[in-house]
Amino acid sequence: MARPRRTIKLQIERYNPDVDPAPHDEVYEVESDPSDRVLDLLNRIKWFQDGTLTYRRSCGHGICGSDAMRINGQNRLACKTLVKNLGERVTVQPLIGLKVIKDLVVDQRPFFDHYDEIMPYLINDERPPATERLQTPEERARYDDTTKCILCAACTAACPPFWANGRFIGPAAIVNAHRFVFDSRDRATSERLAILNRRFGVWGCRVVFNCTDACPRGIKVTDAIEQCKRAILSESV
Ligand code: SF4
Repeated sequence: MARPRRTIKLQIERYNPDVDPAPHDEVYEVESDPSDRVLDLLNRIKWFQDGTLTYRRSCGHGICGSDAMRINGQNRLACKTLVKNLGERVTVQPLIGLKVIKDLVVDQRPFFDHYDEIMPYLINDERPPATERLQTPEERARYDDTTKCILCAACTAACPPFWANGRFIGPAAIVNAHRFVFDSRDRATSERLAILNRRFGVWGCRVVFNCTDACPRGIKVTDAIEQCKRAILSESV
């Protein structure tokens, strides 16, 4: 039997730095279908109740990573979080550790600056072969998990060391370093490991596991971080 529509109270942290002295909560009542995700409710509020509500969204299907936010106290993608699993009252807040630009939109520049630090592209100046740079299935599997990152920032914005000091490179940058460090075609392993070995690099991780819990792609983030630490210590990857 189909589940009936429910009325959900969505408590959203609002903040417009041009007019608000401080963030405050606003509560909206929205009708919800059993198949609705939190993004559907935010859209319904913006389109039919309050056009000033501001949030990022693009693909709406868990691929672009633009709608990461805190939902009932946990970092989630709004487009992947089913409302039926959340109860009658749902809290929505911006990610922590990144400056709020407006409402649920945070300044992602520090996040992407850390991403840029690790040189997130294949580096290989050797003469290219006539065909592709081939890998064995085992070589490809070595970094398969970390290729799934969609740069949503849910992990880095769930990381207490990053909250304490935004200079910490953060889990997402390390995940993306892992993706190239363990790629047999890449030739910049030493440079990347040296970057991770710097002050505010990989050793800032305190193995809290928040990042792994937050990742909407199911990436074993903490495990990838630990693999990078071991690679630095052994320099034999
Ligand atoms: S590792 Fe997961 S949580 Fe972190 S940015 Fe990538 S997809 Fe998002």
